[in-house]
Amino acid sequence: MTELHHQIVECFLFALGAAAGSFLNVCVCRLPARQSLCRPRSRCPGCNTPIAARHNIPILGWLVLLGRCRACRMRISLRYPAVELTTGLMFVSVYWIQIVRSQLDPLEAGFVGYAFWFALFATADCALLTLALIGWDAYTSRRYSAVRTEPGVP
Ligand SMILES: [Zn+2]
Repeated sequence: MTELHHQIVECFLFALGAAAGSFLNVCVCRLPARQSLCRPRSRCPGCNTPIAARHNIPILGWLVLLGRCRACRMRISLRYPAVELTTGLMFVSVYWIQIVRSQLDPLEAGFVGYAFWFALFATADCALLTLALIGWDAYTSRRYSAVRTEPGVP
């Protein structure tokens, strides 16, 4: 594979990773609340307006909306595009470490085997990131609720 082939694959994997990050954001929000991962569609937590498909494109949707809900102008957390960017870079990193750095040609050296290992590493990375974010949310919400319920604290 030439350098151009690797760059094309990296662009594809970045987009795939960003999409995985978008799903990961849904998991982080809905799994602790025991909500469905499929329905309802993504919506603004402020005004409950469904998010249009064109605004649900990882990273770009947040940039187009300038980080605010189109309907009520409520701020959308920077964490959403940050997670999507992180997972996109993670996917590219796994490919770079597995294939580019080792100077192997996956088409000659067994594409299915590399695809399997890539999927395994990428899934493990996403699962760990999801668990870390769920844990962080639980930790911060408990910490803030503890502060709010302390006597004498307004
Ligand atoms: Zn809204």
